[in-house]
Amino acid sequence: MVLRFYNTLTRKKEEFRPQSGNEVRMYSCGPTVYDYAHIGNFRAYVATDIIRRYLKYRGFKLKHIMNITDVDDKTIRNSREQGMPLSKYTEKYTKIFFEDLDTLNIERVERYPKATDHINEMVDIVGALLRKGYAYKGKDAIYFSISKFPSYGELAHLEKAQLKAGARVKNDEYDKEHAHDFALWKLWDKDDGDVFWETSIGKGRPGWHIECSAMSMKYLGPTLDIHTGGVDLIFPHHQNEIAQSEGATGKQFVRYWMHNEHLMVDGQKMSKSRGNFYTLRDLLKGKGGPDKPGNTAKPSGHDPMAIRYLLLASHYRQKLNMTGEALKSAKQAVDRLREFVSNARDGEDGEGIEGIAKKAKEGFEKAMDDDLNTPEALSVVFDFVREANKAGAGSRALEQMMDFDKVLGLRLSETGEWKKPEDAPEEIRKLILDREERRKQKDWEGADKIRDKLGGMGIILEDTEDGPRWKKTT
Ligand code: AMP
Ligand code: ZN
Repeated sequence: MVLRFYNTLTRKKEEFRPQSGNEVRMYSCGPTVYDYAHIGNFRAYVATDIIRRYLKYRGFKLKHIMNITDVDDKTIRNSREQGMPLSKYTEKYTKIFFEDLDTLNIERVERYPKATDHINEMVDIVGALLRKGYAYKGKDAIYFSISKFPSYGELAHLEKAQLKAGARVKNDEYDKEHAHDFALWKLWDKDDGDVFWETSIGKGRPGWHIECSAMSMKYLGPTLDIHTGGVDLIFPHHQNEIAQSEGATGKQFVRYWMHNEHLMVDGQKMSKSRGNFYTLRDLLKGKGGPDKPGNTAKPSGHDPMAIRYLLLASHYRQKLNMTGEALKSAKQAVDRLREFVSNARDGEDGEGIEGIAKKAKEGFEKAMDDDLNTPEALSVVFDFVREANKAGAGSRALEQMMDFDKVLGLRLSETGEWKKPEDAPEEIRKLILDREERRKQKDWEGADKIRDKLGGMGIILEDTEDGPRWKKTT
């Protein structure tokens, strides 16, 4: 079977082959660590996680980089407002970002370089662009001159005429030759405070676009196999990354550009500036969520794996509307998979399970090979659940489901395994021990009440010769 990805550059699905052997050099635009990321941002990171996991599933070796933007207008502004050094401020939100990745079971990529650790590499690229005549010095910044780069606009499929029209309208506002010329290096001004670097190209700080070119090429070389990001980054960010990188190296920068569509709320892109966003923590703690506009308190939080499911169950190139209804059905879907796993752990494979599993595996791979068609792949998984349940699901069926979950990442392996009381979360352990105590005192009614209470929490108990054991059912 052939793995095909939709390439934004060519607007076509193309067979994917890395440039060298089995190794995939992949770069994903990462967060600007000035605040909590919102759940829309996590749609982008989950989409990237699915690409990553599926490439691994298909046997590729990954060299995957995601940058951390820890210097820009917003990080400088916020850290100054809070009277904190920039590095301390961004450290806090970087830590929060990693915690959120773990909550959503988003795999760590091979490396997370920080922009402030790569100033020399950025200065080198800007120096090369100045020497080659692609860049010029303005009063407030060093700019990239887009008119020197003939294919500018190609990724975004912008016509030269559109770019020219922009130039006429906007030209006066800037100290640059063309409205779409962009800053490679921003010369220091007083709003930057103590955030600057003394370099051969002047005292200042990098523009945002150059950060990605410098960090991607440092770790992956001049040509990347895959570059990902949300569709809002196609123009100007990714277009500018191409211009800078190819201007400096003379080589093709990226072979496959992959962009995820947006997470929407009421027909609009979820974004900080619109204020229509939820952070992951809002949804987990029950502080609001799409089913409770206005962030009013909600009695119970959402299940992180239901949030992950919602984000991955739509095709990454389709807009996805965030609603309370959608979250609810995502939760039901995940619970069905958990129930299947839980039953299969104790069940016996029926006749024909091998064929059912094989057919499902083929269907799953066919869907994923076709530009990561997750909705189709999930429908194969649910057909598998139905058919395996009918035939009888045991260890072979379980093994197949765990194989799917390498790609889906819904933590299904944590479901339904019998565990000892000491491995339970605090609250559950206390209830189990309390029940033991009551049984010792022959308070059967009290013991049963606790068993029921645990049942309501998705925990079932079994009494064995070695004492009670428990497992999750949902
Ligand atoms: P930012 O921190 O704004 O640079 O965004 C980080 C990543 O999230 C980028 O890849 C964006 O394209 C992506 N992104 C931002 N908003 C959304 C959204 N509503 N839906 C999906 N992806 C988004
Ligand atoms: Zn970037």
